[in-house]
Amino acid sequence: MATITLPEAGVQESKKTATKYVYFFGGGKADGNGKMKDDLGGKGAGLAEMTNAGLPVPPGFTIQTEACREYMRTGGVSKEVDRQMEEALAKLEALQGQKLGTGENPLLVSVRSGAKFSMPGMMDTILNLGLNDMSVESLAKRSNNPRFAADSYRRLIQMFGNVVLEIPKSAFDEVFDAKKKKKGAKLDTDLDAKALKEVIEEYKKVVKNHAKREFPQDPHEQLVMARDAVFRSWQNERAKTYRRLNNIDDMLGTAVNVQAMVFGNLGDTSGTGVGFTRNPSTGAREFYGEFLLNAQGEDVVSGVRTPVEILELEKIMPDVFKQLREITTRLENHYKDMQDFEFTIQDRKLYMLQTRNGKRAGLAAVRIAIEMVEEGLITKEQAIFRPEPDQLVYFVVPRLDEKDVKIENVLAKGLPASPGGAVGQIAFTAEDAVKMAGHGTEKKPVILVRAETSPEDIEGMVSAAGILTSRGGMTSHAAVVTRGMGKSCVAGAQEIDVDEKKREIRVKGQILREGDWIALDGSTGRVIKGQVKTVPPDPNDMKLLDKFMSWAEPYRTTKVRANADIPRDAINARKFGAEGIGLCRTEHMFFGEEKIAHMRAMILADTEEARRAALKKLLPMQRKDFDGVFRAMNGFPVTIRTLDPPLHEFLPPREELMVNLATLQYMDAKQKKSLVAKYRDYGVKGAGDLKKVLPLLLKRVEQLHEVNPMLGHRGCRLGITYPEITEMQARAIFEAAVAVAKDGIKVYPEVMIPLTATVNEMANQAAIVNRVAKEVFKGKGRTVEYMVGTMIELPRPALIAGEIAKEAEFFSFGTNDLTQTTWGFSRDDVNKILPTYLKEGIIKQDPFAVLDQEGVGQLMKMATERGRRTRSDLKVGICGEHGGEPSSVEFCHRIGLNYVSCSPFRVFTARLAAAQAAASDSLKVEGGRTK
Ligand code: PEP
Ligand code: MG
Repeated sequence: MATITLPEAGVQESKKTATKYVYFFGGGKADGNGKMKDDLGGKGAGLAEMTNAGLPVPPGFTIQTEACREYMRTGGVSKEVDRQMEEALAKLEALQGQKLGTGENPLLVSVRSGAKFSMPGMMDTILNLGLNDMSVESLAKRSNNPRFAADSYRRLIQMFGNVVLEIPKSAFDEVFDAKKKKKGAKLDTDLDAKALKEVIEEYKKVVKNHAKREFPQDPHEQLVMARDAVFRSWQNERAKTYRRLNNIDDMLGTAVNVQAMVFGNLGDTSGTGVGFTRNPSTGAREFYGEFLLNAQGEDVVSGVRTPVEILELEKIMPDVFKQLREITTRLENHYKDMQDFEFTIQDRKLYMLQTRNGKRAGLAAVRIAIEMVEEGLITKEQAIFRPEPDQLVYFVVPRLDEKDVKIENVLAKGLPASPGGAVGQIAFTAEDAVKMAGHGTEKKPVILVRAETSPEDIEGMVSAAGILTSRGGMTSHAAVVTRGMGKSCVAGAQEIDVDEKKREIRVKGQILREGDWIALDGSTGRVIKGQVKTVPPDPNDMKLLDKFMSWAEPYRTTKVRANADIPRDAINARKFGAEGIGLCRTEHMFFGEEKIAHMRAMILADTEEARRAALKKLLPMQRKDFDGVFRAMNGFPVTIRTLDPPLHEFLPPREELMVNLATLQYMDAKQKKSLVAKYRDYGVKGAGDLKKVLPLLLKRVEQLHEVNPMLGHRGCRLGITYPEITEMQARAIFEAAVAVAKDGIKVYPEVMIPLTATVNEMANQAAIVNRVAKEVFKGKGRTVEYMVGTMIELPRPALIAGEIAKEAEFFSFGTNDLTQTTWGFSRDDVNKILPTYLKEGIIKQDPFAVLDQEGVGQLMKMATERGRRTRSDLKVGICGEHGGEPSSVEFCHRIGLNYVSCSPFRVFTARLAAAQAAASDSLKVEGGRTK
């Protein structure tokens, strides 16, 4: 009999290979490679790949993301991480012939974060690590530049103090600024070695005071502390916000790159810069970037000093420039995408510090995708995935109307950092921008004006319509972030003096304050005073987009419609490629000047007769609106929703009426006159009517008052309690449809009943619509094809969708209300809760912006399946805000919806998101997008 021997536990353990935490790169060879972004992060993978390709990369090692996850789980790293790190450091020391922070030629390193997806400036970096009271002297001797050595050391103490010991930056700035003042220095570089040495001593005191410990002199202790601080920075607030906004998983963690320092601040034969292989704003194939002589990396990206164009480098150091061009071209060909690179020149020798797929504006994303196909670098199939669907908003955002730009109002010209026009009121802090902009449909346009933006400003940048900075270049934080967001930005407008304390800007002898209107032209860099008008986008850009879309579109299987209420929006939607209207909110039609009075009369009517009389006046006006929308949508379906909102939305607020009524007897003639004008629509013709009409109005408003109107007398409940409203709307729809059809235009009305919860509600409203259709067709001697369906906006109809589909010929998910009712979050008040929930990580995303696939999405999936079991050809769509959000569109594609419907300006986005979703099914490719 065979016996099986089980290995002993200990044996099994020792056979298990230990996790490889640390990956070395240097001497022409790297442990990792460019594909290992999950482990090494984007930066680490790029460094490994460049090393393997024989490019001049300072050697070093990457501590992989698993160590960061370990840090998140346990608050520390295992001994094995420390061991592997020391081993890699020893290897680095041997390769360089130097020792970390000791000896005559001390090794200094940079410690940088680097996650899988680029998160510009969100996490922390420490440079010059290894310097201490001894090694600074060696560096001074070795470089023959005591000023440089002292400056490097004071930067380390400052960065280390801030990042590792969490001492506020301002504590160091105060010391530095005071020293500059005392020495009469204008620029940082005006401080000499002696002054910097004094700064160092004072910095050390700052450390002692704040951190209650000395600045660590042991280089190994510095390294361990810096590494852990970078791991912690993955969890800082701005990094969390950035991940939330960019849909990046919190659990990925960051890698840490430890790399031998090279110095761009060794004098005028050294420098540092960043660049792109193509223009990130326009996509043009031109070498693009900036550099600073005698500077360290952070000086360029932070925007503290305004850099020089990279082409200038050709004049200063032609050989270096040539080598840089060759290397970056090679990198672009290798990665088959536009590269964003960082380099340092130390004493005329070029080092590559980073390369990654560059962030780009919408226009650039499309142009680069097209041109790379034409250059044979990528295939059309790959090109489809290059632009992010959201970026296409650029092609439909307005630009400034040149006719409205007066030359004398041009305040300054900065850098055209991110294209498109933006007009808004000035805000000086990110916090103010968020407050001033507000939320939702009431959002006001705000221009965030800063000397320079920093990653802390991210929320304000999201809220603002455009960003203006007085410092920084094309690769400054403001420029990079806004390009990614598809938002207009003018950067480095140096003529503008931004006084954030006084909340004013001074330019050309003028002062502009918070709340003043200003316009930005992100395509030319102009900053203009006043509320400049805007015009639609450039038709030439549209040609590029059309070409690109012609490659993506054949894959798309989900139709894209637009939400539009008036003919003008419908015409625009068609221009953007909408294949019908998915939601026409009829209540918006009632807000027009002449209509609102009849609408109010209809609501105030207390008998059916009076109500019918008012509706009769509204009928021709509604008919005219529908007529225009049908004509614009020639041949495409138009979904028209019957009246949905609670009626009191059309009446004055109860409290206001009460106050007016109570104070009426004390009012003078002028005040009464203004009240007459205010209440004219309600039948007040002269001051004498006020006493009679206001009490009646208040009575009616009180009758209609609801504690919770969102869950109240709205949706189909209105049409059931006042059937004559549905009747009038159906009549307007069918009369318009017949008239338009008579002109040879194809019409497909789809009448949609809102907020249905039961099949009987649906049956009740469908019966009215069908009866009126019959009457109109008979009367006009002509029929048109139409459908009657429902919105699914509540969990109940989603659950009993099989029943509802007996009466409804189509479903459209109203995910705004469906999210509200599934979560029990009020759409209007959720912002009181949401910021905390997002900050605490209780929820990952705003469910009103990004479809909650696990909850609301499951209701949609189930309702679609159940509905189609009853009616196999049931048409199903979505018309909530999510219909234009890329990840939600992809979900709708997956669960088999026939169409998504969104606001006109998101139609391109939805088209591309749906095309990418279908293309990845049929091509079985992974997106390969730049994130
Ligand atoms: C919805 O609820 O998703 C919807 C589209 O309707 P509204 O936003 O008008 O309530
Ligand atoms: Mg709704």
